[in-house]
Amino acid sequence: MQGQVAIIGGGIVGACAALAAQREGFAVTLIEPATPGGEQAASYGNGCWLSPSSVVPPAVPGLWKKLPKFLADPLGPLAIRWSYLPRVAPWLVRYLLAGWTEARVMRTGHALRALVKGAPELHAALAEEAGVGHLIERRGLLYIYPSRAEFEAEALAWRVRRETGVKWLELNEDELRQREPELDRRYRFAVLVEEGGHCRNPGAYVAALVAQAEAQGMTRVNARATGFRIEGGRLQAVLTDAGEVPAGRAVIAAGAHSRVLARAAGDDLPLESERGYHAVIADPEAGPRTPMMPSDGKMSLTMTETGLRVAGQVEIAGLEAAPNWQRAGILRDHLLRSFPGLPRDLPAERIKLWMGHRPSMPDGLPCIGPARATADIVHCFGHGHVGLVAAPRSADIVAAWLAGRPASFAAEPYSPGRFR
Ligand SMILES: Cc1cc2nc3c(=O)[nH]c(=O)nc-3n(C[C@H](O)[C@H](O)[C@H](O)COP(=O)(O)OP(=O)(O)OC[C@H]3O[C@@H](n4cnc5c(N)ncnc54)[C@H](O)[C@@H]3O)c2cc1C
Repeated sequence: MQGQVAIIGGGIVGACAALAAQREGFAVTLIEPATPGGEQAASYGNGCWLSPSSVVPPAVPGLWKKLPKFLADPLGPLAIRWSYLPRVAPWLVRYLLAGWTEARVMRTGHALRALVKGAPELHAALAEEAGVGHLIERRGLLYIYPSRAEFEAEALAWRVRRETGVKWLELNEDELRQREPELDRRYRFAVLVEEGGHCRNPGAYVAALVAQAEAQGMTRVNARATGFRIEGGRLQAVLTDAGEVPAGRAVIAAGAHSRVLARAAGDDLPLESERGYHAVIADPEAGPRTPMMPSDGKMSLTMTETGLRVAGQVEIAGLEAAPNWQRAGILRDHLLRSFPGLPRDLPAERIKLWMGHRPSMPDGLPCIGPARATADIVHCFGHGHVGLVAAPRSADIVAAWLAGRPASFAAEPYSPGRFR
């Protein structure tokens, strides 16, 4: 049974972990109650960015000053629901402290960079093997600004990027216009990160990776994991709502739903949902040639297989509260303002809205490493804003823990032990 690994959760993190475990020679069972890569998963609805420049954690020095605004404006880019504040307060304190000084932000930046560096190439190779090479594109990522002054106002973020090895090209108004002729004229400066890439359909990509693992012998159990049977310090089985799944090892990769499972494995880890939204416009009349992030919106605009997707917003309101669709409307309206060639009176059937849960640790880094109850259970969740891009390198660490050998790069920053 030592060769049997149960992967809990079929999002991008679980899918990459399953393939990595197979490469180590393990027999893999995937436990997932829904369709892998389906709408329930953050991996379905994200911004599609494979961004090696996603090295700036969400909390930065001085953020605490904006807290009253986050509570007062339910439609701001980051909002906290009043009713959820008492529950989330301890997480929030840790979140603000993690970004209290530039030195802390820089340390987190280096740890994030180790997870996202080279990711577009890794994803391209995985997609190719799964027969969906066309879903990964490597044509860079653009950060767009009304003027150079707005870029300079983000000095800390770009300092973290430079220090961690991210390179970029600055584009003036003419160069931006040539690259992006349909973009609204209010944007007159841009930064191009050439090593960036994107996924043209994250849900289909996850489904293809899972299908690839199945073709290589993985078994799929359509069930929700509820706990573990551990005897004499060794894992015997994963408990599910459809009975026991025998396994000598298990990986918790259930995204924002991992907290209860981690608790069943002996760890009370501060995992929270940072809810996010997207809007997709089918058959768009205009749009970006390269995926882009406007500085005045902090959202990603990306052309995908299913339409033009705008994704973003952070809402702290827990796993249960109903979506606030006005937030997706804000994203849609910003998109319409950014591309004047899109019609104002789009019929409802051409716009699809979505809400999902970023699985977020307060310090902006995932938890990857053995559980307290037994090293047979490995945590791999809490990827927050970077789960899509960081999944392959996270899976490498998981594979190393499963195989009992050192990872190919330092895994200490992601240790669940930092919260014990
Ligand atoms: C709006 C938005 C934009 C984003 N943009 C980007 C981006 O551009 N680039 C990027 O890298 N990241 C981005 N992210 C973050 C990224 O999407 C997530 O970090 C990532 O998808 C997390 O993957 P996961 O596999 O851990 O979780 P999920 O994708 O949520 O998958 C978890 C799976 O576990 C299953 N599950 C839940 N409970 C159980 C259980 N008890 N037993 C078994 N299975 C269970 C669920 O059904 C689900 O399929 C974005 C997120 C959002 C919301």
